[in-house]
Amino acid sequence: MSGTHVIVGASLAGAKAAETLREEGFGGPIVLIGDEEERPYERLSLSKDYLLGKAERETIYVHPQAWYAEHDVDLRLGTLVTGLDPTAHEVALADGSRIGYSKLLLATGSAPRRLPVPGADAEGVLYLRRVADSDRIRATLQTATRIAVIGAGWIGLETAAAARSAGVEVTVLETAELPLLRVLGREVAEAFAALHREHGVDLRFGVQVAEITGSGGQADGVRLADGSHIPADAVVVGVGITPNSQLAEEAGLEVGNGIVVDAGLRSGDPDIYAAGDVANAYHPMLGRHVRVEHWANALNQPQAAGRSMLGQDVAYDLVPYFYTDQYDLGMEYAGYVEPGGYDRVVFRGDVAAREFVAFWLRDGRVLAGMNVNIWDVNEAIQAIVRGGRTVDAGRLADPGVALDEFA
Ligand SMILES: Cc1cc2nc3c(=O)[nH]c(=O)nc-3n(C[C@H](O)[C@H](O)[C@H](O)COP(=O)(O)OP(=O)(O)OC[C@H]3O[C@@H](n4cnc5c(N)ncnc54)[C@H](O)[C@@H]3O)c2cc1C
Repeated sequence: MSGTHVIVGASLAGAKAAETLREEGFGGPIVLIGDEEERPYERLSLSKDYLLGKAERETIYVHPQAWYAEHDVDLRLGTLVTGLDPTAHEVALADGSRIGYSKLLLATGSAPRRLPVPGADAEGVLYLRRVADSDRIRATLQTATRIAVIGAGWIGLETAAAARSAGVEVTVLETAELPLLRVLGREVAEAFAALHREHGVDLRFGVQVAEITGSGGQADGVRLADGSHIPADAVVVGVGITPNSQLAEEAGLEVGNGIVVDAGLRSGDPDIYAAGDVANAYHPMLGRHVRVEHWANALNQPQAAGRSMLGQDVAYDLVPYFYTDQYDLGMEYAGYVEPGGYDRVVFRGDVAAREFVAFWLRDGRVLAGMNVNIWDVNEAIQAIVRGGRTVDAGRLADPGVALDEFA
């Protein structure tokens, strides 16, 4: 197979797919197209070490600059793909030109949800997705006395942690009763609330943002629905992301919470694939479609997609995995639980000291596990999730019992 393989989206997923195509021996043309000006980079540290100025810019890139020429990957940066014509096997670019493909991978990722309230377009209302966003927030943290963070999800909490580390006062505003409630459930969400409170974050739960206040086009605070006002030198918004699936949708592919693809990352069109944040892929182990908005998925899934594009028989079924670092808390999470989809949480270790493993169970089976400040156990947790056996909760909670027993 030597026809041109086009990848739209030049970030982690796109770059990994290009790498896989070459590693698997594909010798034909590869065109990797991205609308950002930067060569493919990872976003992880944009809310962590890079935001704090502890990681150099060079550390964020997926490959050295020279890699693309060395591997004969035609990297087109600053190039927006505006259309997709599956019948003609072409993508259209913003300048009116078109590129033909024999196989196409959509790795267009996701974009921050915008805050739909008055004042949200003022200067000082900041989102965090791209490296320039991180640069802007870092500069803000150097001069601000206090910021408001809207949304207590991963991005909001990591930004709050970075801001506290930079000595900035932080108020976090969240509509739910606890941070990360939908993803973690009450039991573990409370541990994250305690962590941030101990670090001096003013957490306000169950609140509705009515307006971003400001003067002269510059944000100066947040007005809540109850009329109260939180003054802030800047407002960071982290209220979730939406998949960039417009190209697929306009081309008539099946879209629903991202681009719907099978376990081989193939859409309804046999020549069009999707991977990374934008893909709602059938997961054989879970027996359902899932869209995973995390780094490990953007790292591994495009490798499967690349092989699939080359005609290999592939089923991507790695256990969903992610991690976060906030203050002195590092954690890894493996598995998948729908909001409210568990009936019990089992803790092993010391929750108050933040050295524990939490397991989410349903009908006695472990759906997911999270190790907090305990290392070298995540593979065992993944094996337990994958095994799907009924476990004895008392033994699971006992740190003296090896985790291998439950796999
Ligand atoms: C600040 C931050 C911190 C994070 N921290 C963690 C973490 O700690 N742990 C974790 O597991 N995950 C984390 N994530 C999530 C992780 O970074 C994402 O899952 C990952 O970036 C997804 O990669 P992707 O390549 O699928 O999509 P993206 O990274 O979104 O890249 C898609 C690319 O495609 C481009 N594009 C879109 N449409 C077009 C078009 N029409 N034409 C051309 N180009 C287009 C986009 O501009 C973008 O460059 C974090 C994300 C952010 C933003």
